[in-house]
Amino acid sequence: MIECPFEADALFAAMREKWDPTLREHVATCPVCSDVSVVAGALHREAELPQPSELPDSGRIWWMSQLRARREAARTAGRPITAIQVLAFSAAMGLLGACFGATSQWFQATVRWAGALQLPWSTVALLGGLAALVLVVAFAIVAAIGLE
Ligand SMILES: [Zn+2]
Repeated sequence: MIECPFEADALFAAMREKWDPTLREHVATCPVCSDVSVVAGALHREAELPQPSELPDSGRIWWMSQLRARREAARTAGRPITAIQVLAFSAAMGLLGACFGATSQWFQATVRWAGALQLPWSTVALLGGLAALVLVVAFAIVAAIGLE
């Protein structure tokens, strides 16, 4: 093991960052004192850095992670339920519309009247598309409000 009689002085000077000119010359040529001054200087600079803020309580971290896991599980479990609800609602609306169309006298009369007008198919398709768009927008608004 290599030792130097100025090792302690070099360590002390590096930690205080107060260098004697003769000691600085010695440190520049001595490998032991050079290593000691590099390490002590790095430790001194590290100690002067601002310390990281304190970590939150472990119980709080655990509670927050449990809460987050529960929310994610509920969100994951809710997706298929929402899809089934949308399908059931669509089927119910289709069935209701079919029953309404089959039993309503004024609706059938309106359809016969519209058929008697002999509108071109492009106009009928445009009107049907607009009606479907209005229904889709209304359903989207209701779904968006329901998700809030
Ligand atoms: Zn030395």
